[in-house]
Amino acid sequence: MIEIYKKLPGTNCGECGEATCMAFALKVQSAQRKMLECPYVKQENEESIEQESVVTMENNYKRVSKELEEEVKGVDLKEAADAIGGNYENRDGRGVIRLNMMNKEYEVRNDGLFDNDTYCEHSWSKIIIYDYVRMKGNVPLTGNWVSMGHFPDAASHSKAFQKNAEDKISEKFNSDLNGLVSRCNEMEGTETSGKLKADYVCSFNLLPRVPMYMCFWEADDEYSASCKLYVDRNADAYIDIEYLAYLLEWFVKIFVE
Ligand code: SF4
Repeated sequence: MIEIYKKLPGTNCGECGEATCMAFALKVQSAQRKMLECPYVKQENEESIEQESVVTMENNYKRVSKELEEEVKGVDLKEAADAIGGNYENRDGRGVIRLNMMNKEYEVRNDGLFDNDTYCEHSWSKIIIYDYVRMKGNVPLTGNWVSMGHFPDAASHSKAFQKNAEDKISEKFNSDLNGLVSRCNEMEGTETSGKLKADYVCSFNLLPRVPMYMCFWEADDEYSASCKLYVDRNADAYIDIEYLAYLLEWFVKIFVE
């Protein structure tokens, strides 16, 4: 954490949404914030810091995913599968949960996460799915939608979230509503209505019990397009909200590809 702190300006300006650079460094260390979310990291020495930052972050992600993997070894997978909407099976006396994350199937076993019968090396897939499994969401979904800013842990960087996720969709599909609808279909979204007035509303199951709702307002003569992403009010009972923010950004990255 000190090594990360040393790469920050130390001015405690608060622009990242954290009260101090130390608080920001702590969140980077636990893989909850990205180094480049401090606007001054980039400006100082863009290339070298970016490279170092990528190395530091990769190491952090690996460490966090290993810690969570250890924790999942002690989880009762049968009980967890019921709670998180996964399919449980007993394979040769060992429990396995099959579940989809963003339409891709994974298997959680007591010895790790598997993708196509191969141990998954992608740290973020492991972090998100292990966290989802260990939390065993213990409250029902409400059906009420909230933006990420609703959750205190994500409120501090809702601006970064808007820039990294919602704005990317509105910029890409600005006045191309048909293009957006067709991309939603490709990503197996379900057109939804009734909650909010928007030109198009679509829901996606990022994880079996983690729905996301996309509201899109197409550009007109006066305004450019806008997009808002919502999750269930109880989403934080199923997944750490910082990891959920990452999952949404990841989804958007694929969505606008
Ligand atoms: S934006 Fe950067 S310099 Fe400002 S408090 Fe956050 S980490 Fe420190």
